[in-house]
Amino acid sequence: MTVQQPKRRPLSRYLKDFKHSQTHCAHCGKLLDRITLVRRDEIVNKTAIAQLDTLIDEATWQIVKQDWIALCRFCSDLHCNEHNDWFDIIGFKQYLFEQTEMSHGTIREYVVRLRRLATHLAEQGVAKELACDLTPDEALEQWLPATSPNNYRIALRKYAQYLRQKNQLPDSQAENKSTSAIY
Ligand SMILES: [Zn+2]
Repeated sequence: MTVQQPKRRPLSRYLKDFKHSQTHCAHCGKLLDRITLVRRDEIVNKTAIAQLDTLIDEATWQIVKQDWIALCRFCSDLHCNEHNDWFDIIGFKQYLFEQTEMSHGTIREYVVRLRRLATHLAEQGVAKELACDLTPDEALEQWLPATSPNNYRIALRKYAQYLRQKNQLPDSQAENKSTSAIY
């Protein structure tokens, strides 16, 4: 009795084809220019991919494939820095894309501000817990950079909105806050 063996190829081959078949970033939906492959939130570079030589068939690949996504340079950068980040930047960015009408450029600007702020806070030795506060704009007020603090304040308020949404807190709180912020 002979059983037809399904054709097997190294995983790296499938990944190469997969990479070439991806046209848009899995996170922000931007047209891909430079592609980074990410497996379960971890960037896997070209060299590491080349070493994935396990032989698998098409059916196995279809299962394995679910762990892999292709990201643009900007989104993969965020993945890289995720661990030392003070803010949940990936979630925040996703929130801005999905729940607001903001342009790519504006979203990028917000993200850049938060990342800059995180660097500044780390340099100042500020306690990281403050960034986890549900009202980070208030908790971090005294630590804002002396140069254009208002830019950071605006970004933090937007981030606070994201946190409220994430924690399913009522919007009324947001209204009260923005009203009191005028005075
Ligand atoms: Zn992206």
